[in-house]
Amino acid sequence: MSRLLTIIFLLIHCYSNAQEQLISSSGKNILIRNVNLIPMEREVVIPRQDILIRDGKIAAIGNTGTLTGSKDAFIIDGTGKFIIPGLAEMHAHVPPEDNLKAIEETGFLFALKGITTIRGMLGHPRHIEYRNKINSGEIIGPRFITSGPSLSGGSVKTAEEASAMVKAEKAAGYDFLKLHPGLTPETFAAIEKTAKEVNIPFAGHVSYKVGVWRAIDAGYATIDHMDWFVESLVPGIDTIPESAVGLFAVFIADRADESRIPKLINGLKSKNIYVVPTECITRRWFAAGDPELLIAAPEMKYMSSKTKTSWVNAAKNLQQNPSYKPATVKSLIEVRHHILRECQKSGVGILLGSGAPQEFDVPGFSAHQELQYYVDAGLTPYQALVTGTVNVGRYLKRTDIGIIKPGAVADLILLGADPLKNISATKDINGVMLSGKWMSESYIIQELKKLEKD
Ligand SMILES: [Zn+2]
Repeated sequence: MSRLLTIIFLLIHCYSNAQEQLISSSGKNILIRNVNLIPMEREVVIPRQDILIRDGKIAAIGNTGTLTGSKDAFIIDGTGKFIIPGLAEMHAHVPPEDNLKAIEETGFLFALKGITTIRGMLGHPRHIEYRNKINSGEIIGPRFITSGPSLSGGSVKTAEEASAMVKAEKAAGYDFLKLHPGLTPETFAAIEKTAKEVNIPFAGHVSYKVGVWRAIDAGYATIDHMDWFVESLVPGIDTIPESAVGLFAVFIADRADESRIPKLINGLKSKNIYVVPTECITRRWFAAGDPELLIAAPEMKYMSSKTKTSWVNAAKNLQQNPSYKPATVKSLIEVRHHILRECQKSGVGILLGSGAPQEFDVPGFSAHQELQYYVDAGLTPYQALVTGTVNVGRYLKRTDIGIIKPGAVADLILLGADPLKNISATKDINGVMLSGKWMSESYIIQELKKLEKD
């Protein structure tokens, strides 16, 4: 009798601890059945498709019921659902600290929200270890491309220091250099020269004393935040001190002369410079309104109270600046929308990037908000999705990323509705596949729960 009780107890115990597991496609077939396929190579929804995944890659795609190898597969029912490639956050901040667990948690939060590629813009030596562990399959996380620690007015004071730092970052194995504000024409010139010598791309902010024309001429890989874009439209900008301009021209955007936009776009286009807008920063931080309302949003439970307090303070500090005017912020948003539309029209590559986690932007969640902001700016939902998929593959020079086709990496998001009709459907996540590992909706809920903070 006691044995029977023990068995019953064990069964109940096991059941109550039942954990949702990842389903791996390594050595095994996974079939997503009867789904509406949005392959992204063109604007189309192909109904009733089966997608066969094996060993992390898309093995085959066909009309439902026609694929061989689907018999013994793990089946995911896609009936009535839509599938798109995994998205990318091209301006991510992974904690620049020694604590690998904090780094892993941030990366995992991105992945659980369908962000299967992130580009780290705040490098740290542990990030190389993190990237290598993801690549070897030792830990689960999004594809990770990382900058080194940033080159800025604080970290490089002389041309020699700048040049030495570029060489050290290349030797350490970082993918690119992150530039922050405060560089001088001299330190910037040394960075450009050495980066070209050792063959490492550079990206990020445009220092005030460098200016966008010099940045374009040097050939940034990406200009992030549209830094210096609106500034370049303001007549007499050379005579205005940096403090009066504010971050990304937040204090003077109402003085922008929009007839100057074509010159900017032509410059970006001529040097094939990609733009990572981070509209979340202007829309959520600069135009925060009452910041307490923003931090009351449900996704804020994944951020610590310390972080949330610092975000509220950042918004209040900005609002208390005598140069801050809500009407100018409104102009800033409108001018940036205009620039984005012109980028889209002229074929300047836009890359989806929100800047998470920075003020009010929660990893994973904010990339979906960012997509909405591109649609607000005038892009179609398809064009917005391109920024986080096809363009990312193009930028990374990979034909197997950001697209759904045989041979591509199996990075996928299963959605409950059609994102080409309404971009907000990207938030309706029914499951995520990360390099061929399936995370069901219940697995995502379970793992998100573990990432909640105080
Ligand atoms: Zn950044």
